Amino acid sequence: MIYNISLLKGDGIGTEIVDSTVKVLEKTAEKSGDKFNFTSYLIGGAAIDETGQPLPQETIDGCLKSDSVLLGAVGGYKWDNLSGDQRPEKALLGIRSALGLYINLRPAKLYPALRNASPLKDEIVGGGFDIMIVRELTGGIYFGDRGYREGKYGEEAFDTEAYSVTEIERIGRVAFETAMKRNKRLCSIDKANVLETSRLWRKIMHELSGEYTEVEYSDMLVDNAAMQIVRNPGQFDVIVTSNMFGDILSDEASQITGSIGMLASASLGDNKPHLYEPIHGSAPDIAGKDIANPIAAILSAAMMMRYSFNRADMAECIENAVDRVLENGWRTADISNDGNYIKCSEMTKKIIEVL
Ligand code: NAD
Repeated sequence: MIYNISLLKGDGIGTEIVDSTVKVLEKTAEKSGDKFNFTSYLIGGAAIDETGQPLPQETIDGCLKSDSVLLGAVGGYKWDNLSGDQRPEKALLGIRSALGLYINLRPAKLYPALRNASPLKDEIVGGGFDIMIVRELTGGIYFGDRGYREGKYGEEAFDTEAYSVTEIERIGRVAFETAMKRNKRLCSIDKANVLETSRLWRKIMHELSGEYTEVEYSDMLVDNAAMQIVRNPGQFDVIVTSNMFGDILSDEASQITGSIGMLASASLGDNKPHLYEPIHGSAPDIAGKDIANPIAAILSAAMMMRYSFNRADMAECIENAVDRVLENGWRTADISNDGNYIKCSEMTKKIIEVL
């Protein structure tokens, strides 16, 4: 098969990690007899420098024509003083909305070889954990009415959380389907003891659970979930939650895996192309030094193989290669705990060697 992939390298370490990922994908395709055509488009600070805007129309059009999109990261010191609308990060919301991506899948997995990198005690993470967080991405309080008004105590600011039945049902179905492909356990996280949107969320999730009887379903309040993720992360398989709760809980879950440089994500919608990106930013503090960890981006490409191309074979090939390199003791600086580490380019070579 021939797959057309748009590359949005962006800024900082975005370039290094996407270049590494391309090499890994090329080797994977060589082995399986497939072919990837890569086309790069500008995004973020690099796009501002070249065109004056963080998300040029040419980038959107190019992505829409492709089968899938791989994003590095955007942002950096150089653009930090620009106003909100002109900042590189503005391109992130723009590309998600242009591609209609309302589902965010964020795996948080503790690799046995990296157990020491987790800030949690061995007795908590000894058994490992592998959580898939399904976060609603285009609704809720981040997209509701907002503004300033005169309130009881004078001027006040407000943001509004709104969720429709349709929005809840479509993300709920994705979560149940995801659970069906994994260990068939789903926990829906809300704040139904306080919020009306959460009560509707919970009602719809309960209705769906009647359709997916094979899935062991539970609800949890978000404050309890924040505790349970650090108390006993192994209890979770798939988590589904709203945009804001997912934003916060997925960052919490990422931290207990040890390094942000290991974590991939997928943003999906009803139609292709979908977008895959590491959860970390452009890491301007280490950019250009060849010391970034490319694994988050490489695992994002593995998610692309599985979710965009239905190629579990290629996804597993990449994931197994990453596992083996870690088992063999190779570490980039962010996941090394004895001061010994290899560079980004060397880690890429090690992964390619065992593919
Ligand atoms: P960051 O994720 O870029 O970096 C946080 C810390 O983690 C830094 O010390 C960095 O060196 C380290 N780190 C991140 N990725 C790493 C990797 N692959 N290997 C090794 N170490 C890694 O977050 P930040 O410093 O808060 O933000 C930097 C810039 O990135 C800002 O402009 C921010 O707005 C932007 N940002 C972009 C995205 C995105 O493009 N999706 C996401 C978050 C932040």
